[in-house]
Amino acid sequence: MPGLYLHIPFCKQACHYCDFHFSTSRALQGQFVKALVKEMVLRKDYLPTSDAPLDTIYFGGGTPSLLTGAELDQIFAGINEHFDVSPRAEITLEANPDDLSPAKLAELAASPVNRLSIGLQSFHEPHLRLMNRAHSALESGQAVRAAQAAGFENISVDLIYGVPAASHAIWEEDLARLFELRVPHVSAYALTIEPGTAFGRRLQKGTFVAPPEEFVARQFELLLSQLRARGYEQYEISNFCQPGRESRHNSNYWCGVLYLGLGPSAHSFDGHSRQFTVANNPQYVAAVLERGEVPATIEQLTPLDQANEYLLTTLRTSRGCDLAHLRDVLGLNLLVEQADYLAGLTSQGMATLTGDVLRLTDAGKLLADHITLALFAEAPAAAA
Ligand code: SF4
Repeated sequence: MPGLYLHIPFCKQACHYCDFHFSTSRALQGQFVKALVKEMVLRKDYLPTSDAPLDTIYFGGGTPSLLTGAELDQIFAGINEHFDVSPRAEITLEANPDDLSPAKLAELAASPVNRLSIGLQSFHEPHLRLMNRAHSALESGQAVRAAQAAGFENISVDLIYGVPAASHAIWEEDLARLFELRVPHVSAYALTIEPGTAFGRRLQKGTFVAPPEEFVARQFELLLSQLRARGYEQYEISNFCQPGRESRHNSNYWCGVLYLGLGPSAHSFDGHSRQFTVANNPQYVAAVLERGEVPATIEQLTPLDQANEYLLTTLRTSRGCDLAHLRDVLGLNLLVEQADYLAGLTSQGMATLTGDVLRLTDAGKLLADHITLALFAEAPAAAA
């Protein structure tokens, strides 16, 4: 069953590592919500399975917790008018700790949202300040407890590792604080320095020093060992859950389930092509509201693109990459075309091959991007 993604492109301030699409000017927020609802009208038939009920709805951003209760009501009214939503749909909203006041949580608990993804990133005040997060270390823990008290049990938290530090003590303390919260799902990402971000500019000027690869790798190992020791499963390289608590939205994405993405910078996938909506709030609002158009580019996926995307997404998951599917359905026979490379991966302990299923080991996961690129028949037309 398909998914719906809604991109809410506003943030209070720019985190220094972030290269997502957002604006810190919220002047257009009211108009944006109107445009988002109008985009539902314009694109409700985008998915070939538009008769199938939505299985997942995901509010991402940006900072969806900046939506007012009235704006959220408007958006849900639009969803209910234009789409059929499964009664057991997973409905996730990304939230920042500083937004989760008791009043906001009560509003969210009374809405159809049934899962929160809370961007903690760290429990360490200097790291939060370094990253220019809008919340304090105190709010990191308080937000999750307040959400639980408001009735949200289905909670994911985001953490960032590989932040410059003299030792691993801060990361170990972050993990200890995480386990006190007893949440069913954790997403943990290595700090990456992207061009165009504040960290990227500082790196260029030489005023920011990224930690060495071995430092980041050690923190990844600490993450894996401590989460596993507490019963969490790593179902994707950056995603961990208690048994049976995977994010359905993300899992569907990695399995190639179709989805419609609404809002500026959102992506959509209809099985044959991807659509990328313009990453510009004023252009998006004007085009949708004034001209009834969604400014977007469409990329038709060649069989090679589809094969590469399948590799890219499945190799990151614990289910692994089914090389028989890749060969028989998508036309890429890695067992023949990359026989030597695959033999090297398995002999060096980077991957296992069980039947036709290729899975990365912990060592291989550290090099996942590199291994995936090496397995591509040629560079993909565009990143997934
Ligand atoms: S709140 Fe999220 S989307 Fe906004 S700047 Fe920070 S990391 Fe990026």
